[in-house]
Amino acid sequence: MLRFDLHTHSKYSFDSSEEVGEMLKTAARRGIQGICVSDHNSLRGSEEALELQEDHGIIIIRGMEVSSSEGHVLAYGVREEVPRDLDALETVERIADLGGLAVAAHPHRFWSGLGEEVTRTAGFHAIETLNARSVAIHNAKAEALAEELGAPATAGSDAHRLGDLGKAIVLLPEGLESEEDVLEALRKGRGRTAGVSRDRKRTARYVVRSVGNWIRRGFRRI
Ligand SMILES: [Zn+2]
Ligand SMILES: [Zn+2]
Repeated sequence: MLRFDLHTHSKYSFDSSEEVGEMLKTAARRGIQGICVSDHNSLRGSEEALELQEDHGIIIIRGMEVSSSEGHVLAYGVREEVPRDLDALETVERIADLGGLAVAAHPHRFWSGLGEEVTRTAGFHAIETLNARSVAIHNAKAEALAEELGAPATAGSDAHRLGDLGKAIVLLPEGLESEEDVLEALRKGRGRTAGVSRDRKRTARYVVRSVGNWIRRGFRRI
């Protein structure tokens, strides 16, 4: 099987300082065949990854993590940035118009997740059922929801540091060679997920820090 980490953040996200080239090098060293640098509201990380793709022999899935007004949405395979702050339904439609795959990111996460109702009704192509920065119970709920809806599952580490790359991955059949192949396989629900959830101690710290950042940003959502 081929291993893909479909949710990672580079220095083009306000909350990561990692260089794209270092991320690709680390991923390749860890036996990952494909990666999406999915920065917050920016395609710059993905574009840089695409330029460096050949140096690292790794498949790049273009993408970004869009802050919809209702929670985070992963947009895969888009060549144009999707605007933030649209509602979830409009965000999904915009991604579909751009030929991309719209995925509900960590739907049950406190604060930045879409929540169950929106995830059910906004027409997502797939649901992120394993995110290494979500606690196990939230990942389990996302998995149950995807199963119930018959929606394809995706996974990613949501790494903001090199050390976390590859902690959650999608396994796809051998023989895929391009972004198009990968997106097609994901659409068909051929992915299986593998990896770990966040442990509880780190979650407590994360919540406290998120609220602190939010206050400092003047109560603006990420
Ligand atoms: Zn997110
Ligand atoms: Zn993220």
